[in-house]
Amino acid sequence: MQGTTIAGVSLASGRTLDLLSVVAPVYNERGTLEAFYGRVCSALADVPFELVLVDDGSSDGSEVLLAALADRDPRVKAIFLSRNFGHQMALTAGLDHADGNAIVMLDADLQDPPELIVEMLDRWRSGSDVVYAVRARRAGESRFKLTTASLFYRLFDWFTSVDLVHNSGDFRLLDRRALTALLSMRERSRFLRGMTVWVGYTQSAVVYDRDPRFAGETKYTLARMLSFSLDAISGFSHRPLQLATLLGFVISALALVAIPVVIALKIVGSYLPGFSTVEISMLLLGGIQLITIGIIGEYVGRIYDEVKGRPLYLIRATANVDVDPDSPAGRAGADAPPGLETNRS
Ligand code: UDP
Ligand code: MG
Repeated sequence: MQGTTIAGVSLASGRTLDLLSVVAPVYNERGTLEAFYGRVCSALADVPFELVLVDDGSSDGSEVLLAALADRDPRVKAIFLSRNFGHQMALTAGLDHADGNAIVMLDADLQDPPELIVEMLDRWRSGSDVVYAVRARRAGESRFKLTTASLFYRLFDWFTSVDLVHNSGDFRLLDRRALTALLSMRERSRFLRGMTVWVGYTQSAVVYDRDPRFAGETKYTLARMLSFSLDAISGFSHRPLQLATLLGFVISALALVAIPVVIALKIVGSYLPGFSTVEISMLLLGGIQLITIGIIGEYVGRIYDEVKGRPLYLIRATANVDVDPDSPAGRAGADAPPGLETNRS
């Protein structure tokens, strides 16, 4: 391996790939699974790879297709979660079971073109630890989704100090050391694209056009997107809480200004007893207090979820996977009801 040295620290470059892990979550993707598998295989024809597919509690028969794929091709590792745990947890389950020295995560609906992985690998070979794909165009997505996504990225910038490039999704390639760092973070409010930036090391971007979904529909409803955005912001910032304090100061300052004004108006005799003024300020204050309690509640709820310390996901069955009982994944598996952990490899 070649290397550059900065202040006595060797920075790796010119890496050799032993194994690439391609990790994708699958939730009701019956219509895309075969095509996805085919495109990954042809895009990576010259690359030693494993395909880690996580069934996130599908109910449309994707799980049967996935089991058949794993039977047919030993490079396909299949992990079946005990129910639907959500995109970020499913991705985490896949990353926990990846064995490669480079790991790429992408969606199984072919919105992220597998052909781009080759370019991402070149970046990794020349020393990048985290290579993220930035979407230049997003075909087939509604105006509403694009507008809310852009609003989210602006809010995220404003609230947090994590330098997340706008329009970079979860389509990323990680070096093993970046993945090890990422997997040491077992928080429940998972915003993986922010967490991969947080780990640092050498980061670089490749640009691509995001395709429309191959088949099926988006699983991200408005409510899911909202809760995902709250996880993202609260996971990386206390600023909303500070904002509540700031609002408190502003309102108190207004009250302090209002007192001498009322006294002066009384003295000059032009004071009008105002019922509506009292009502408006009561409503305003009540509203602000409820909002700030709500903000605190968002954090308290998340703290509550964290302290319970439940496993991030449970595994019902696996195929072509060796579960290491000492790994976080193994521990998660060990928490599954006895008898459900099957290893068909
Ligand atoms: N997904 C998942 N669990 C879920 C929702 C989605 O594993 O609860 C998977 C889904 O199968 C897909 C990826 O996450 O591979 C992205 O989901 P989707 O395409 O619905 O999101 P969008 O691209 O619309 O943001
Ligand atoms: Mg999609």
